[in-house]
Amino acid sequence: MVALDGPSGTGKTTVARKLAERLSAGYLDTGAMYRVVTLAVLRAGVDPADADAVAATARDAVFTVGTTPVRPAVTLAGADVSAEIRGPEVNHAVSPVSAVPAVRELLVARQRRIIDEVLAEVGGIVVEGRDIGTVVAPDSPLKVYLTASPEIRAARRSAQDNAAGRRSTQADALASVDRRDRLDSSRAASPLRAAPDAVHLDTSELEIDQVLVALSELASR
Ligand code: C5P
Repeated sequence: MVALDGPSGTGKTTVARKLAERLSAGYLDTGAMYRVVTLAVLRAGVDPADADAVAATARDAVFTVGTTPVRPAVTLAGADVSAEIRGPEVNHAVSPVSAVPAVRELLVARQRRIIDEVLAEVGGIVVEGRDIGTVVAPDSPLKVYLTASPEIRAARRSAQDNAAGRRSTQADALASVDRRDRLDSSRAASPLRAAPDAVHLDTSELEIDQVLVALSELASR
């Protein structure tokens, strides 16, 4: 198992999926789980700041996340929401929803179940998120913490948004990733933080393929 943590825009998702493919392993995007619950909260008209109502919505939400690295679809109430969970509304509300302890408890338990199932079936898994090495799977044999400068992270996020047909300038993206990272790092429940034994990798000056080579080497040790 590989635990891949770090803030947004570090290339985590692209790298995690490609690494899983290379290792013939399964893949779990835990951010997608917080995002789909956030979409359920928004659809229910619940205020993301109302912790009790958010927790109740999370408990009732019927969703699935794919565990194959090639096209990991996310569904909510039976419909594919893979694109919608990456939109600006979810981006804005996901940090407060993720800060609710009951939501984290629910999703961490589900993540551990999925990891166990995939490990039993496929033999390996790459899991990406914010608290994989610290909370979800502290026994993971390989923990990597990806970082990149704020400007690079904003540029990557803005390119991703534009590729998905959502207009976004670099300044918009910088404000959005900055805000989310501040909220994710300062929350009381499982704040974004590197595990003490994580390998740190700064991806600012690296192409995806170079990051992939570095991670493949670490994984084969
Ligand atoms: O990785 P991604 O940008 O999709 O994550 C969306 C949000 O989900 C993060 O900003 C964070 O608030 C939350 N998250 C989390 N714990 C994780 C993964 C994501 O709190 N393990």
